[in-house]
Amino acid sequence: MKDHHDHNHSDQAAEIEARAELKMLFEKMPNTIPLLLFIAQDKKDPFSQGAKQVIEAVSEWTSKIRVEVLDLKHKKAKQWKVRYSPTMIFDPDKYHIRWYGAPLGEEGRTFVEALIMMGYGRTNLSEDSVKILKKIDSSRDLKVFVSPTCPYCPQQAVNAFKAAIERPDIISLEIIDIQANPDIAEKYSAQSVPQMYANEKQIAMGAQEEELFMLSLEKMEQQNIFIPESDAEEVETDLVIVGGGPAGLTAGIYATRSGLRTAIIEREALGGQVANTPIVENYPGLTHVGGKALVDLMVSHALQYTTIFPGEAVMDIRLGDPILVQTSRRRFKTRTVLLATGARHRTLRVPGESRLSGHGVTYCSTCDGPLFKGKKVIMVGGGDSAVTEALHLKNIGVDVTIVHRRDTLRAQEHLTRNLETNHIPVIFNTEVQEIEGRDRVQGVTLYNNQTQRTQTMKVDGVFISVGYTPAVELAQKIGAELTPDGYIQHDSRHRTNIKGVYSAGDVEGGYKQIVTAAGQGSEAALAIFEDLVNPYWKKEG
Ligand code: NAP
Repeated sequence: MKDHHDHNHSDQAAEIEARAELKMLFEKMPNTIPLLLFIAQDKKDPFSQGAKQVIEAVSEWTSKIRVEVLDLKHKKAKQWKVRYSPTMIFDPDKYHIRWYGAPLGEEGRTFVEALIMMGYGRTNLSEDSVKILKKIDSSRDLKVFVSPTCPYCPQQAVNAFKAAIERPDIISLEIIDIQANPDIAEKYSAQSVPQMYANEKQIAMGAQEEELFMLSLEKMEQQNIFIPESDAEEVETDLVIVGGGPAGLTAGIYATRSGLRTAIIEREALGGQVANTPIVENYPGLTHVGGKALVDLMVSHALQYTTIFPGEAVMDIRLGDPILVQTSRRRFKTRTVLLATGARHRTLRVPGESRLSGHGVTYCSTCDGPLFKGKKVIMVGGGDSAVTEALHLKNIGVDVTIVHRRDTLRAQEHLTRNLETNHIPVIFNTEVQEIEGRDRVQGVTLYNNQTQRTQTMKVDGVFISVGYTPAVELAQKIGAELTPDGYIQHDSRHRTNIKGVYSAGDVEGGYKQIVTAAGQGSEAALAIFEDLVNPYWKKEG
C-alpha cells in the first residue's frame, strides 16, 4: 500500500513539474497566437463543450494564446465561412488552418505541439523535408481525418501542421475529428484514421514518417519509400548500374553483398515497366501482387544495401580506367558499368496518335485507367501486356474492347481464358488506321485486313500496348554491339563487347519477365564481381 501511495505522489509531482515546464515554454514564445473557437451555443454536444473548456483553460494559463470563443451565429463565423461546431481557427492572418473538433484525448498532443510550433515560428522539419516542401509549386488543400482515441493520429496531424505552417502561401489545412463530424467522415468514407486528402484526392492512409508525408504531398499520391537526395558532386564506385528496374535493383543487391561499391541510377520511375503493371501473378512467392507494391518491396530491399540515385539521367559515359559516368546531377568514377536500361513502349504511328496523346490516347492503364471509368475504350495489342491491362481496365469499370491485328492472341493461355470469363470482346484481324477527335479522342477508324473493310467506332479512349523497343541509345553511343533485333549483344556472362561494360534485363531481349530480368541482374553482378577480382581483359591482354 505504501508503495502505491508513493507512486501516486511521485506521479502527481511529475505532472505538476511537467505542467510548470510547459507553462514556461508557452510564456517564452515570441509569437502570440490568435485562436478563434466557434461553437453552436444552443447545441450542448460534448465536442463543442470540450473544446470550449480546453481552450478557456489554455487562455487562463498563458497570455500567449489570445482566445475568442464565438457563437456560430456571430458575424465572424460568416466572415470566415464557418459551418461546423466546434471549429477552431488558428492565427488566420498568417495561416489557413482549421480544426473541426476538440483537442481531446490523443489530439491534445497535436494541439500543444501545433501551438508551440506557431508560437516559436519553428517547425523543426528535417532538411530533406524542407527540400521537398520547397518543390511544391501549386496549392494543396489538406484534410487530415483524426480521432481522439487514435494514438497514431498526432504524428500525421503534426506533419500536416508543419506543412501548413511552413508554406502558408500554398498549403491550407483542415483537421477533421471523425467522431465530432460523422457527416464529413461519411462523405469521404473515412472509416479509418488517420487518413489524408489533398485537393479532394486521398494521398495517404495511416501515419507516415515526416519525409514520406511531404513526398506524398508533393507527388499527390501515397509514397512508401523515401530516398534522400545526395549533394555529392563526384561519387567513386566499382559498379554503376544504369536503370532501376528489376534487373538493376537485383544487380545492386548482389553486387553490394559481394562487396562492390555500387550505385543505381534511374532517370524515370524506379521499377521500370513493373511500376505500371496493374497486377503481377507469376513472381514466385507472390501469388497476386500490384506492380507498384512489388517495386516498393524491391526498392526497399535494394536500399538496405546500395545507394540509388532516382530522377537522374545518364548523359554521357567516357570509357577508360576509371570509366566516367556523367549524369544530370553529378559524376561517377567507376570500374564497371551495367546497362540495365530496359525498354520503352512502342507507338502505333498512325494519324492522330501523337496529337491526341494525353487526350485520350494513352500507354499506361494503371495511370490513366481510372479516368475512363464508365467509358468506352479500345486496347490495341495482343500480347501479355495488352491482355493484363484490358483485364485491369474491365475490373475498374471501363468498357474495354481489344483490337488485335492477327487472328490469334500472343498472350499466355491463362490470361486469354480470363478475357472470356470477364466478357471482354476481341476484334481480330484488325488494325487501327486513324485516331479521331478534335481536342480529345472521339473515335477510331478500324481496318479489317481480311475483308479489307474499314469501319469507324466511337470511343473515348485508345490504350496502346503493342510491345516495347529496347532502350539502347546509351549503349550505341559508347559503341556497344547490338543484335540484329536491336538488343545489346552480350555473352553468357552478360559482358558486352566493351571492356567493363555489361548488360542485363529487357535490354538484352529474351523472355522479358520480371523474374528473368532479376535473374539476369544477379548473374551480371556476380560476373562483374568475379571479373573485378580476376579481370578477363588482363588475362587476354
Ligand atoms: P509483345 O509480347 O511484344 O506483344 C506486342 C503485341 O502488340 C503483339 O500482339 C503484336 O502483334 C502487337 N503489335 C506490335 N506492333 C503492333 C502494331 N504496330 N500495330 C498493332 N499491333 C502491334 O509485348 P508485351 O505484351 O508488351 O509484352 C512484352 C514482354 O513482357 C513479353 O515478353 C511478355 O511476355 C512480357 N509480359 C509478361 C507478362 C506476364 O507474364 N503476365 C505481362 C506483361 C508482359 P503480333 O502478335 O501480331 O506480333
